[in-house]
Amino acid sequence: MASSHSGEIHLFVGPMFAGKTTSLLRRIKSDVDNGRNVAMLKSSKDNRYAIDSVVSHDGVKFPCWALPDLMSFKVKYGHEAYQKLDVIGIDEAQFFEDLYEFCCKAADEDGKIVVVAGLDGDYLRRSFGSVLHIIPIADTVTKLTARCEMCGKRAFFTLRKTNEKQTELIGGADLYMPVCRHHYVNGQVVAEATKSVLESQKI
Ligand SMILES: [Zn+2]
Repeated sequence: MASSHSGEIHLFVGPMFAGKTTSLLRRIKSDVDNGRNVAMLKSSKDNRYAIDSVVSHDGVKFPCWALPDLMSFKVKYGHEAYQKLDVIGIDEAQFFEDLYEFCCKAADEDGKIVVVAGLDGDYLRRSFGSVLHIIPIADTVTKLTARCEMCGKRAFFTLRKTNEKQTELIGGADLYMPVCRHHYVNGQVVAEATKSVLESQKI
């Protein structure tokens, strides 16, 4: 049965180090201060900081549920407790394959406010996971920016510092840096050149 009050979906995207988790935590904390019932979810794939907390790069923490998928949350949390929830925060949303399905159900049918933070693009600037799929069902979409590590200008992209090729390579400042368009293009050229030198040496 549909909930009496209607839900909402808010999305924060951007490159790494753009303050997505910080924005999500700020929003969730103000909901807690306003007496709303809140649950925070993140992917169990990302255990860089802590398994039971969402932690931003600047060290702010909030307790959370680390899950392999979103649709199992209702059962794990308990049906009754779920009914009482007002707000659901989702961090690192690019790792959830069932993001669209979950957000649709939570906002449309269950009347929840869903606040989502995730990478819009991977290190090759390709759409990452299902994050972009929820734009058509979202109330608001905010693209945050970081500071380019090379020149200090606004950074829109995430550059991988190593030659690893898998899309889901989880890491922080050791593996990735935020860059502006100019330094993204330059950085990719350098990465490709390094790769071809390494490959030519193998032969
Ligand atoms: Zn730059």
